[in-house]
Amino acid sequence: MHEKCGVVGIALEDRDAARPLYYSLYALQHRGQESAGIVTHDGFQQHSHVEMGLVGDAFGPDDLESLNGPNGVGHVRYPTSGSVDACCAQPFSVSFKSGSLALAHNGNLVNADEIRDELADLGHAFTSDGDTEVIAHDLARNLLEADLVRAVKRTMSRIHGSYSLTIMHDDTVLGVRDPEGNRPLCIGELDDGYVLASESAAIDTLDGELVRDVKPGELVVLHDDGSGFDTYQLVEQDHTAHCFFEHVYFARPDSTIDETLVYDARRDLGRQLWEESGVESDVVLPVPDSGRAFASGYAEAAQDDGTDIEFAEGLMKNRYVGRTFIMPTQDERERAVRLKLNPIKSTIEGKTVTIIDDSIVRGTTSTQLVELLKDAGAEEVHVRIGAPAIVSPCYMGIDMATREELIAAGQDVDDVRDEIGADSLSYLSIDAVAETLGNARDDLCLGCVTGEYPYDIEDEATDRDVHRPVIGGDASVEADD
Ligand code: AMP
Repeated sequence: MHEKCGVVGIALEDRDAARPLYYSLYALQHRGQESAGIVTHDGFQQHSHVEMGLVGDAFGPDDLESLNGPNGVGHVRYPTSGSVDACCAQPFSVSFKSGSLALAHNGNLVNADEIRDELADLGHAFTSDGDTEVIAHDLARNLLEADLVRAVKRTMSRIHGSYSLTIMHDDTVLGVRDPEGNRPLCIGELDDGYVLASESAAIDTLDGELVRDVKPGELVVLHDDGSGFDTYQLVEQDHTAHCFFEHVYFARPDSTIDETLVYDARRDLGRQLWEESGVESDVVLPVPDSGRAFASGYAEAAQDDGTDIEFAEGLMKNRYVGRTFIMPTQDERERAVRLKLNPIKSTIEGKTVTIIDDSIVRGTTSTQLVELLKDAGAEEVHVRIGAPAIVSPCYMGIDMATREELIAAGQDVDDVRDEIGADSLSYLSIDAVAETLGNARDDLCLGCVTGEYPYDIEDEATDRDVHRPVIGGDASVEADD
């Protein structure tokens, strides 16, 4: 199960958390459009509303009114390419002997099946095949024998993969980030409380202040009365494995992730793209919206070099068309690109054009756009991409495509250029990505562009000495305090 999602957790002094949770989920809508959910706690019991659909459709005024209590967690879930699956909508709630849990998860475990099998042998009954339920059961089991911090530590020592979690145990809200910091999670301060969120844009929406990122391997426990938070560094790791694709595509440009404003990162990547493979043309066009910041950095660097390139909005986006990427058939995906993007002829006709996008996955968008621009009278169409070629699937929570579907898997750049019909094509180098994001290569997860992962994944290569927990045998919790 690939969970590319948004999570939030809030603890307030004495007003209901439902509305701030709702607004922050709105701010994280780009991280998931399949389902939205909020679970609050009023000090006595949980209140939950989880529904399929967009945030604005999932909650009516009455739903928000019924979500009582100053503490809560929320989740938006990304659509996977398969069927719509109500059982996997989150937050995931369980009641157990010593209390209640509600979990919101962004990421993907690579050893969930092992832990599920082991817990099932011990009598745990599972209602979904999702890995969030596995974390919930493991934590519930550990909470029977240990306090909250120890129980979380024990669960972290067993689960392997990417996870940014907001969790509510009774009315205590906590946030956990996996030891590699693969997915983002940050802490914000409000006038009357604290918030944990996938991205800082959610904190901005609440007029809060970003305090800092949650550190890889850290647990943050918000005080129930909204007065502060405690932190525990539960797992130390030599290297992180931040997902570079969060900066390239997934996160909002106005979010700050691991101390970098995503917009600045994209502009810098665009500048690097010019440095590495700039091509003279009459006009540079961003692919809206994903290529916009890259294109402005690219055009600015070109102009700094004294190259006379016009920067123009030559492609108009129909903002009412949803994501083309998740359309089930290739035919529909191609039609959807045409529905979504239309050229402005006067900026293109008779000109040499460079289009800039963040990434090529299946190649549908760029193939369609090259054809579109040529039909609109472009003399040449050059394609520049602000990320390296995607050659391998993502196992860590970004729903991309299978290896067979990836246009660059098993083909070199010239093959891809020919297939998309462009006059030239260049990607950004992996080194430029690492340098621009201010990370060493082995502090990033580059699995989708190198085919080597920072996790132990069946039938895939790793790029480091992976510490994988050994699961099985005795599932008791005495292991590691
Ligand atoms: P494709 O058309 O299959 O080559 O996909 C590339 C286009 O989809 C680019 O415009 C990207 O901005 C966008 N994109 C890249 N990754 C994803 C993703 N995981 N989900 C949705 N869209 C994506």
